[in-house]
Amino acid sequence: MKTSQLLCPIILFSALSSCNSPKASKIKFADNIVVAHRGAWKAKNFPENSIASLQQAIKLNCTGTEFDVWRTADDSLVIHHDPHFNDLEIEKSTYKDLMQFQLSNGEQLPTLSAYIKAGLTNNNHTRLVCEIKPSNINAAYGQETAQKAVTLFKELNAEDYVVYISFDYDILKKILEINPKANTQYLNGDKSPAECKADGITGIDYHFSVFQKHPEWIKEAKENNVILNAWTVNDPKVMDWLIQEKFDFVTTNEPEEVLKKLKK
Ligand code: MG
Repeated sequence: MKTSQLLCPIILFSALSSCNSPKASKIKFADNIVVAHRGAWKAKNFPENSIASLQQAIKLNCTGTEFDVWRTADDSLVIHHDPHFNDLEIEKSTYKDLMQFQLSNGEQLPTLSAYIKAGLTNNNHTRLVCEIKPSNINAAYGQETAQKAVTLFKELNAEDYVVYISFDYDILKKILEINPKANTQYLNGDKSPAECKADGITGIDYHFSVFQKHPEWIKEAKENNVILNAWTVNDPKVMDWLIQEKFDFVTTNEPEEVLKKLKK
């Protein structure tokens, strides 16, 4: 068969498959490396992990916005950093218990469902970087939280937006068991890029000091096509270094500052 004969069906097939997947063309992630840590909250004095901080990250055109997920005792997935919300331990409280308190801007504690819906509004450029918190109850509880989050992203048609991150390696492995195509980044800083790659984890998102200690992991990640992300980068010198090292993502409380540096 001639090459031209072989190419025709391939071209036709790719044209057809792209027609059948409008989602694929919908998202064009912002061409920068900035992930707003707990949303873009600092400059505007929004609460961390609020819907306002998520919307601000989208408005700033960050390529990603990060947030933290816990599960309440009655199975609500909620967005908050600490294990406690106003002295109530989230994992041991019901959502109704938690609702008696508000965030400092008057928002209710966001559910993951509300957060995803807000993340899909006026957004075709910002990734939703979803941290699943390791459970203080037991490892299996955390994995079940992950499972419920993955199901919700699927139900809300938001799978193409999400990058899952966790300090708990088994949570990421659980996510990959459910969706082998999921984007996953490991946070804990104790595995080499090659080890993560062998387990199907797509990126490493380590404290920047880990990369200062293991500069060889930067090269190793690039050689293995493992995504490079670093947290939480607020020092301008560290920003410069990671930009120079061509990191894929920089997770920061100062998204405006990193964006300004990238423009220069
Ligand atoms: Mg986090």
